[in-house]
Amino acid sequence: MRSLFHWFHALSRHWLYDVLHGSLFEIDHDTIKVLDWIADQESGNPESAASPACPDQIPGVDRTALQAIWNDLRVLGLFSVQEAELPRIKQNKPANLKALCLHIAHDCNLRCRYCFGETGAFGGDRSLMSPEIAFAAIDFLLQESGPYDHLELDFFGGEPLLNFETVKKTVAYGRQAAQAAQKNIHFTLTTNSYNLDDEKLAYLNAQGLLLVLSADGRPAVHDYMRPGAGGQATSERILKNIGNAVRSRNDSDYYVRGTFTRHNLDFATDVKFLYDQGFRSISVEPVIAGPEAPYGIREQDLPGIYAEYDKLADFCLECAAAGDPLRYFHFAIDLEHGPCILKLISGCGAGYDYLAVTPTGDLYPCHQFVGREGFRMGHVTTGIERTDLRQAFGGADLFAKEGCTQCWARFLCSGGCHANAHLINGDILQPDRMGCALLKKRMECALGLQGAIKELKQVSAS
Ligand code: SF4
Ligand code: SF4
Repeated sequence: MRSLFHWFHALSRHWLYDVLHGSLFEIDHDTIKVLDWIADQESGNPESAASPACPDQIPGVDRTALQAIWNDLRVLGLFSVQEAELPRIKQNKPANLKALCLHIAHDCNLRCRYCFGETGAFGGDRSLMSPEIAFAAIDFLLQESGPYDHLELDFFGGEPLLNFETVKKTVAYGRQAAQAAQKNIHFTLTTNSYNLDDEKLAYLNAQGLLLVLSADGRPAVHDYMRPGAGGQATSERILKNIGNAVRSRNDSDYYVRGTFTRHNLDFATDVKFLYDQGFRSISVEPVIAGPEAPYGIREQDLPGIYAEYDKLADFCLECAAAGDPLRYFHFAIDLEHGPCILKLISGCGAGYDYLAVTPTGDLYPCHQFVGREGFRMGHVTTGIERTDLRQAFGGADLFAKEGCTQCWARFLCSGGCHANAHLINGDILQPDRMGCALLKKRMECALGLQGAIKELKQVSAS
């Protein structure tokens, strides 16, 4: 029952989420008590069986009648829905590539304290990708794409603007090669924005690249975690550059992406700060680090982080009500037009239909695995050599991951991040439990927000 329905409190209301159908209902407090009672009946919880008084305390609720309804629902099979068909859908997934993350520069002009790429070099030498390797990566993507027509390529680093001439050549080559193959490549560039001047911006706008622009929020927070290579403060220049970028593309096709750590557990204030700078597409995410890192999130931080997500959900609703919505990436779910079932059960595709490429052309399951021992999968000129790894990543879906098939958030999460699971537990099939807790809280906020905003629209339309 609790893996098929989830009832919770968000934005000062009670909600019921139907996991298999993706439906959301607003419910009252008494319904919560009845649902708790039904769930306890079903699980045979001996404590509740000994004192199943809860529904009797609700005026108008007769426990005998409720028991009869419950029995009828069970006979109808409502709480015994089988998901057995879903793994078979997965077998139809093509073993082809959809996306590449190109580490166009293993170098950086910042020295972020939490950088999982060891401030740009990813455990190796500081180096830039040559145009030849970048072109070979494009050829590899097109060759391996099979039935996929719409492909993705992200210029990543380190800092991609340090190798901007190669970025430009690669876009030109990619457009031409894709056209010849009757396909389309959509380009994204993820930058720390320190060198995002007018000339580069004009090119990126003209070519229609999606921009992911990194900034952590309040200057004191940002400057402490994201100093320049010379130790200098960077927020003033970065915020100015991001402001120019956002205005120049009329608030579209960008995300301002930040990271929160143990040092700014009040990160809702940082999101509001970024909103006050005029940015409307914002993603501020928990740092990728174990709890032993001085800035790593720890178990005892969770209640405070939940409260911040609640504040953010309230803020998103306020912004929507004021007609100036905040698109907060982590609350962006779409129950009505969400991804297909194949995507919902198979997750991010890292190591299977999405790979990362280093400056020397080596292939890894995703940007976070670059440099991790045992995860080199092949080379852009010779293809995938470690077919065992590809199989392992392809099989790391909801049905293989520990605890996921019983989790109410499974179709919103799709099994979590393989890299986090490996970082924390040394196994891509064992999800990072702290990450799960944060994901579930975010999904409660996101679902509540969907319901509240829908009601807001209905009220203003009537
Ligand atoms: S800007 Fe990115 S690559 Fe550079 S140090 Fe910071 S996190 Fe690392
Ligand atoms: S990774 Fe965690 S949150 Fe995601 S479906 Fe699995 S158990 Fe649920």
